Amino acid sequence: MFNRLSLQTKIVLMFSTVIIILVSVSISFETFTFNDTVKKTYISQLKGITTTINGRYEESRSIEDVQQIFDYLKHREVDILQLNLHVKKGEKHLVLASTERNLIGTNTPEVLASTTIEGKTMVAHIEDNEQHLVRLVAPLLEDGMTIGAIELYIDNTKEFLVVKDRILSIAVVGISLGLIMLIALWIIIKHLLVLPLFTLREAATSIQEGKDYEGLNLNASYEINEVADAFNKMVYKLEDRYFKSITDPLTGTYNSAFFKHKLQQHIQTANKLKQSVSLLFCDIDNFKKLNDHEGHVYGDKVLKDIAQLIKDNVRSEDIVCRYGGEEFVVIMPNIDERLAYNQAEKIRNLVALHGNNSILTPISISIGLASYPDDANEQDFIHLADQAMYTAKSLGKNRVVKVSEIDKLKKESYSRNTKDNQGNLLRTIISLTKAVEAKDSYTHSHSEMVSKYAGILASSMGLEDEEVKRISIAGLLHDIGKIGIPDSILNKEGKLTEEEIKTMKTHPELGYNILAFVDELEEVLPYVLYHHERPDGKGYPEGIKGNEIPLGAKIISVVDAFHSMTSARPYRKQPLTVPLAIKQLKNGKGTQFDEEVVNHFLSIINEILKQTDQTHAG
Ligand code: GH3
Ligand code: MG
Ligand code: MG
Repeated sequence: MFNRLSLQTKIVLMFSTVIIILVSVSISFETFTFNDTVKKTYISQLKGITTTINGRYEESRSIEDVQQIFDYLKHREVDILQLNLHVKKGEKHLVLASTERNLIGTNTPEVLASTTIEGKTMVAHIEDNEQHLVRLVAPLLEDGMTIGAIELYIDNTKEFLVVKDRILSIAVVGISLGLIMLIALWIIIKHLLVLPLFTLREAATSIQEGKDYEGLNLNASYEINEVADAFNKMVYKLEDRYFKSITDPLTGTYNSAFFKHKLQQHIQTANKLKQSVSLLFCDIDNFKKLNDHEGHVYGDKVLKDIAQLIKDNVRSEDIVCRYGGEEFVVIMPNIDERLAYNQAEKIRNLVALHGNNSILTPISISIGLASYPDDANEQDFIHLADQAMYTAKSLGKNRVVKVSEIDKLKKESYSRNTKDNQGNLLRTIISLTKAVEAKDSYTHSHSEMVSKYAGILASSMGLEDEEVKRISIAGLLHDIGKIGIPDSILNKEGKLTEEEIKTMKTHPELGYNILAFVDELEEVLPYVLYHHERPDGKGYPEGIKGNEIPLGAKIISVVDAFHSMTSARPYRKQPLTVPLAIKQLKNGKGTQFDEEVVNHFLSIINEILKQTDQTHAG
């Protein structure tokens, strides 16, 4: 029970008890001392009176004298109410003189008779109808022997009232002093102990509730100040540790673990308060390209800047987290969907304007917006926001898409992709091929044939349809870099000089740079760039070896060589026969050409020639 009381109540109770005990003890002590003093005064008064009476009696041995003194004293002292003289006569004690005449000759009361024999002096307080009396009894001596007793009744009502007043004032003063002490003590304890402890408790509670911690600065006793100091240090250390555990070190936004935890919390709050939560799923567009062109250090800087830009353009209650590599998510509690959309649009616009200054690698952001509970349930909330983001990507990036628009936009995007985009891509490839063929008369239909051979070869090697398609496209575009080679070199009939050969060898890189601007050709680029590399490392532009060369590039290399050998060239008007070309391929196995690709090509060469309907001399 005591343990359940608050510290404050316990301290008040303890001090009150101590003070009540102290006041009671001092009142009792004062009362006792005062009563004792009064008693001693009566006894000394009585001794005076009895000594006088006793003296007179011993002188005259006359009871009448005693009676005279009694009468005189009663007459003189108003406080003396009654005087009796008890004397032992044989076995009995009798009243021989008294201020009350009717008592003379009566028996002494039994209690008095027994004490009279012992010769004791007695003081007794008697209360009688509002009147306070003191009865004093002292022995009567004759030749040193106790022969009786003198009994004296005094009215001490006055003294009694004085004593009563005195006790009352002691109690009042004692209790007042006690209360003052209690208050003073309470104030001291409150400031030194209770208030600092309460502040400490409040600080601990506010941390528990997840509020910001400002640090304790107590003006208490040094022990408590030390506790507060240690508490501050502990909290800062824990906060630091906690902060690191929930933050992404690169961008300073929250990490994905914290995101999931917070999202769940906000969904629960939204359920409880019947509110909504919106989620932005943001993915930076073309970020890989930015890394490739500018390097990862620069990429990191852009990532940090964009994180800051997002943080600066959301509300203070919104939570920005890094979901993955170049993906950010923003939790927007209790927000109207239109406002969330406007906010996302603002971010998209600012990233497009300030994301990166380089014209070659412009940066934009695609954002998916989902709202709980309108668009999604708890399980598919993140997934749907992600889907909306992907829809934005498929629509050409740099867009904000709401979950409610996904289906409609997907249909639009599909028809556009299948009609426009694919048509566009095909038209782009054909026009590029035509451009190079127009420049180099001998490459006429060379690209087309290389593409066909490469497609058939790749397909017969068991590659996936998509990969076969990419290799066919690479076949069409492998010589696109020749657009950048001067006609004088390209169409030179004699042998090329060293300088001219060097220029000629730049065409794979030139081709790569031209095609790098077409997003859809991203995966075709390596085949174009490396189609003149050799397994022995003696090729160009990078001199990579063996398996470093992508399979697509190895395939183009073999069929390109075969078709070149078997068709007319400016420097060799008479083409090689098929068997001679096959011999050349065999000779170059493992050095100039990939062995496996050559073997495969040779195993199906007749089939290929039949399919492509080629007739060769020889
Ligand atoms: P999309 O427009 O389709 O989103 O293409 P993308 O290139 O942005 O996306 P993709 O998923 O192909 O590549 C993401 C790139 O982000 C790959 C990786 O190099 C880069 N990346 C991921 N994390 C970091 C990082 O911490 N720093 C840097 N510099 N780059 C990163
Ligand atoms: Mg991206
Ligand atoms: Mg990504």
